[in-house]
Amino acid sequence: MKGSLKIGKIFGIPIYINYTWFIIFAFMAVVLSVNYFPSYVDNWIPLVYWALGICTSILFFVSLLIHELAHSFVSIKKGIPVKSITLFIFGGVAHISREAKKPSSELMMALAGPLSSVLLSGIFYGIHLLTSGVFEPVAVMAGYLAWINLFLACFNMIPGYPLDGGRVFRSLYWMLTGNYKKATRVACIAGRIISYIFITGGVFITIRYNLWTTGLSLSFVGWFLNVAASGSYRNAELRDSLGGVIASDIIIRDYLSISPALTLKQVHVYIMHTGRLFFLVTDNDSLLGSMALENFKSVPQELWETTKVGQVMTHADEMQLIHLEDDAVNILEKMDDVGASRMVVVDGDNGILGLITRDNLMRFAQVRSELGT
Ligand SMILES: [Zn+2]
Repeated sequence: MKGSLKIGKIFGIPIYINYTWFIIFAFMAVVLSVNYFPSYVDNWIPLVYWALGICTSILFFVSLLIHELAHSFVSIKKGIPVKSITLFIFGGVAHISREAKKPSSELMMALAGPLSSVLLSGIFYGIHLLTSGVFEPVAVMAGYLAWINLFLACFNMIPGYPLDGGRVFRSLYWMLTGNYKKATRVACIAGRIISYIFITGGVFITIRYNLWTTGLSLSFVGWFLNVAASGSYRNAELRDSLGGVIASDIIIRDYLSISPALTLKQVHVYIMHTGRLFFLVTDNDSLLGSMALENFKSVPQELWETTKVGQVMTHADEMQLIHLEDDAVNILEKMDDVGASRMVVVDGDNGILGLITRDNLMRFAQVRSELGT
């Protein structure tokens, strides 16, 4: 995954931290250590504030992770595998491999996260009560964590897709009407309406009450929600228009293959003549790898005459191969996951059948949506 660092695996699910998360982590630790904790208790040494600030930020991170694990756990129980969990600037995302087949499954998956946050809030509140007056640093920290987990649960229950509340809303709508497509559309529209309320509310607070930090934060959250809701909407449309399409419908059988023994200079001539930028590297019809623009760019031009295709190609075992009966929506997800713009279609014995390109897939989806599949 791009821009993310893998930190480990829990229940077999890879856990990633997006780099934006470090910004929020540092920001939170500083604000807590310099501002929040000193305003509560004023006679501790700075080291205690900093230790508390960092511990609280780490426990907040663990809380977010538990929230996402709760979603993932229910998802796996419902038979839907979870590919990964990524923690980023506003929280986390569990990458569920496909949508739920039943509204009740989606409802339970969506509720699991906020429920776990409420539970955590209760546990931290219990610790706060037990340590109050006994060990103040822990009491202050637990009190803060109780509050922020409760906030997290409430914020996530805002009924705009793709927030958890939006998923709850979608599943209920889906349950009542039996119409999954319409439920998704309505939940995405709700997400956008809520995002505009946040944005305009933030601007209003900034101008009317001169509360810059609060106002701008609200607008920023609104903007983020808007991007997420619009993205989900487009995604839903795309899924709709690719419904029922499989690889054999969109395969491009006209591909060019080259030998690994060619030099880059020779391939360059080939490119200039054909205008094609992608080649399969083969030896007696068996796939060895692929050669695209990025493979070329890794070698300085003066070495093109002496460098062979076999030395710089992407090897077949690093390539994602697909089959004729694979679902177009899944192929697109695979491409997104690995950041690929093309994939090779093979038969049962890994014999090459053709290519699927992202451009072609998108064009196909667009035509279908314009003609109203
Ligand atoms: Zn959630």
